[in-house]
Amino acid sequence: MTANSLSLWTPAKVNLYLEIVGDRPDGFHELSTIFQSIGLMDRVTVAVKSGPAAISVDCAHPLVPNDHTNLAYRAAELMAQAFPEGADRQSTIQIAIAKNIPVAAGLAGGSSNAAAVLVGLNMLWELGLTRQELQDLAAKLGSDTAFCIGGGTALATGRGEVLDSLPCISDLWVVLGKYDNLSISTPWAYKRYREVFEKEYARDQDTQTSRHDQVRSGAMVRLLSKLAKGDRHNLEKIRALLRNDLERVVLPDYDQIQKLRECFLGQTPLGAMMSGSGPTVFGIAANGANAKLIKSAVRQYMPDPELSLWTAPFIAQGVHLASDISV
Ligand code: ATP
Repeated sequence: MTANSLSLWTPAKVNLYLEIVGDRPDGFHELSTIFQSIGLMDRVTVAVKSGPAAISVDCAHPLVPNDHTNLAYRAAELMAQAFPEGADRQSTIQIAIAKNIPVAAGLAGGSSNAAAVLVGLNMLWELGLTRQELQDLAAKLGSDTAFCIGGGTALATGRGEVLDSLPCISDLWVVLGKYDNLSISTPWAYKRYREVFEKEYARDQDTQTSRHDQVRSGAMVRLLSKLAKGDRHNLEKIRALLRNDLERVVLPDYDQIQKLRECFLGQTPLGAMMSGSGPTVFGIAANGANAKLIKSAVRQYMPDPELSLWTAPFIAQGVHLASDISV
């Protein structure tokens, strides 16, 4: 009997480091970034059956489209085009998304949902694609989607789709804060960055490669490798090593994010920063109990009911099965 439905957890990510290195011939930015998966996850259910060729998406979140613009829909469309033999057998694809990851928040929620559809259809249609093959497909959908397949800790270059796995860190947590009424468009943040900082861009490939090498052998990667081995002697150094270039354009325009970041910085010795293009701010916590304390302290200083706060551990996985396959 062939499985026809499965559910997957789709973890969010934070960027522990995001350097905008320069320009690319395709018009995107060349990045050096360190992604970290966290245990704040959506649940995506993918079902296939024989019938008319059709894709449907069902997500109750008011900011998430249920049409062909949903990234999960686009992932299904890509798979149906790339693997017509699977699509011929079971060409009705139904996707249900239970959202826990805030939307347009710099946490790669949509990318993670799309990654789940690639992984899910690979299993349901028994295509036998490798992780690398899934990542190559994912890169066609967005810059963060390839990372979301395998997750964990990774250094990403290119648009963010060229991945080098780093050893996984356990026992660190994040506290996340996001104003419900605030969302930031990723294209806007990069466009603004270009307007203001284009003159600093590295354009030739040698300079860009040498920047990547500096990050790869740099202090942040070395510290993360020690933490992954359980050596926490220099844990507090992480505070000074967090970097997100997009803060340079987002913080001056969004006073609320700036203030939230300052509040987080006052509550954790391990540092705080905006994730990706924001507006989510995260603070690092040494363990789960510590994360709860930081969250309560931030809540005390920032009682605004529009501010949502979460705690989540660093996790070593990307998209993964949430339940037994139902047949
Ligand atoms: P990233 O960190 O990868 O830049 P993000 O966390 O900032 O992404 P998303 O939550 O992925 O942003 O949403 C960005 C936009 O994409 C939203 O405006 C939303 O309407 C749209 N979108 C399309 N599909 C999805 C999806 N499955 N989940 C969330 N948003 C989606």
